[in-house]
Amino acid sequence: MSDTDSHETETPSLRTPIVAVLGHVDHGKTSLLDKIRGSTVIEGEAGAITQHIGATAVPLDIVSKVAGKLVSPDDFDLPGLLFIDTPGHHSFTTLRSRGGALADIAILVVDVNDGFQPQTEEAINILAQSQTPFVVAANKIDTTPGWNPNPDSPIKATYDAQSDRARSMLDQNLYELIGELSDAGFSADLYWRVQNFQNNIGVVPVSAETGEGVPDLLTVLMGLAQRYMREDMEIDVTGPGAGTVLEVKEEKGFGTTLDVVLYDGTVGADETIVVGGKNAPIVTDVRALLKPRPLAEIRTEDRFEKVDSIGAAAGVKIAAPDLDDAMAGAPVRVVRDREIDDVIEEVEAELAEVEVSTAEEGIVVKADTLGSLEAMVSTLKEEEIPVMLAEVGDVAPRDIRFATTADEPKHRTILAFNVDTLAEAGDEAEQRDVRLFDSDVIYQLIEEYEEYVDEMERAQQ
Ligand code: GDP
Repeated sequence: MSDTDSHETETPSLRTPIVAVLGHVDHGKTSLLDKIRGSTVIEGEAGAITQHIGATAVPLDIVSKVAGKLVSPDDFDLPGLLFIDTPGHHSFTTLRSRGGALADIAILVVDVNDGFQPQTEEAINILAQSQTPFVVAANKIDTTPGWNPNPDSPIKATYDAQSDRARSMLDQNLYELIGELSDAGFSADLYWRVQNFQNNIGVVPVSAETGEGVPDLLTVLMGLAQRYMREDMEIDVTGPGAGTVLEVKEEKGFGTTLDVVLYDGTVGADETIVVGGKNAPIVTDVRALLKPRPLAEIRTEDRFEKVDSIGAAAGVKIAAPDLDDAMAGAPVRVVRDREIDDVIEEVEAELAEVEVSTAEEGIVVKADTLGSLEAMVSTLKEEEIPVMLAEVGDVAPRDIRFATTADEPKHRTILAFNVDTLAEAGDEAEQRDVRLFDSDVIYQLIEEYEEYVDEMERAQQ
């Protein structure tokens, strides 16, 4: 039996906290995730970190090895950390669960030279809305002029050991960032000065390049998880599984499959599941449960390994018939020992919870997932832009026709987030004079729309 198997069969009664990484483009989200994975791979024996579908699990003993003296396994009863591999608020908002965000804790990555940027603002709004505890990674400290790196020491000691000039340059950036956090409504400080993480956000200076500060970041994450997530993380380790669809994907040999983040219970390879669908909940039988093969064993046509069952928290690929209408962000429930109708009702109730309330008059919004739709609609609400239709899916001709029913010309508009526009819909939009904006950045869509409205209003004066 490999380490991987034994780790999974001894499913802990406290599940692994789920960690998401957010921040502005190019601020270093991917590099930081790679560094965390890389340093854990170096520290751990082969197989100690487990590659999941869409996520990476780092067990507690490896976290504590990386964190050196900072984390003692005796201080924690959590099994480790599960990092969602796709950084950014898109996957964060997609991954919603009962009552809110699926991620238990988050890392907000900010380039310390750049400070707050539009997507930082967006990310922090999303974190505040979902009440997700987070830590700020003040990244790229190695680019501070005169920086003297020391990846083997805790970051406070490295910081203290810098020349006066390097430290004051870094301080200037760090204090600006702390000020920006405060403007956003969060009291924050350098993490070693934070006494009470409940009221204060810890800022950890890090470098995804040198790895400095990564152990400290893991320490703060473990602390946050330990302090705040206890109640939610006590799971029924043998109960019917509950999860969220991260992605719907065609997979050669398996047809349409679901990448699922399982946050509760277990799922077996022959069980009946209910999945949120575009039109109605889908009831289907699992055909195969798949995990990535360890890198060393990968053959081109055989990337996945079949498993009999898997327990939370985990990322898993589910192959089953009839998944074409499944939606990213939708709930997945194992039926086991329950009435199918009750489970369907549960799935419907969870979908209905998504707050995409619309008005009589307003614009049309299309998005790729429920979570992103919800984020769009709530951001538009803040900007006082009314929405009359908000739906998941590509832009179709009927969306264009619907947009023409708006009374005000400025509302005859479609904002399309991360979806395609069907060719006929594009033609129809031109013919019917409906404006179509598409982007995969929420703030960009809204900014472009606001500029368009400004121009329109100026032209009328
Ligand atoms: P993302 O868009 O937020 O995922 O950002 P990436 O991880 O792709 O990083 C953007 C760029 O910044 C890449 O060229 C990285 O190599 C670089 N980068 C990221 N973190 C650091 C860091 O800590 N120090 C330095 N010097 N460069 C970094």
